[in-house]
Amino acid sequence: MDCLFCSIVKGEIPSTKIYEDEWVYAFADIDPQAPFHAIVIPKEHIASAADITAENSYLLAKVYEAIAKIAENEKLSGGFRVVNNCGHDGGQTVGHIHFHLLARRNLAWPPG
Ligand code: 5GP
Ligand code: ZN
Repeated sequence: MDCLFCSIVKGEIPSTKIYEDEWVYAFADIDPQAPFHAIVIPKEHIASAADITAENSYLLAKVYEAIAKIAENEKLSGGFRVVNNCGHDGGQTVGHIHFHLLARRNLAWPPG
């Protein structure tokens, strides 16, 4: 299967690693939308939030455990935003579920 983020997990495409454990990989977004912008993904390929099942949903818990660790490691004490774009109308451009972790600026709400 040809998947950009699977290739990043395998190291076939270089990335700037921010965090890694058995289940999760996080790396710097190539086009950052905030002073801190990580992409957090399960290593296992899941296409989108629409593909979460009873069998793979534990990986979302692992993603959020990783996010809490990243926030501590990176001292994101001012807060942060987690964004998951799903599908065409949701603005998803890479077909491997991912969570944008944005911080170090005041993020507008609603996002527009
Ligand atoms: P989406 O629009 O699907 O929610 O987010 C995809 C994100 O992946 C975008 O923020 C984009 O900048 C990032 N991205 C796309 N290709 C690459 C890449 O090759 N390397 C890295 N580090 N980020 C990428
Ligand atoms: Zn993938």
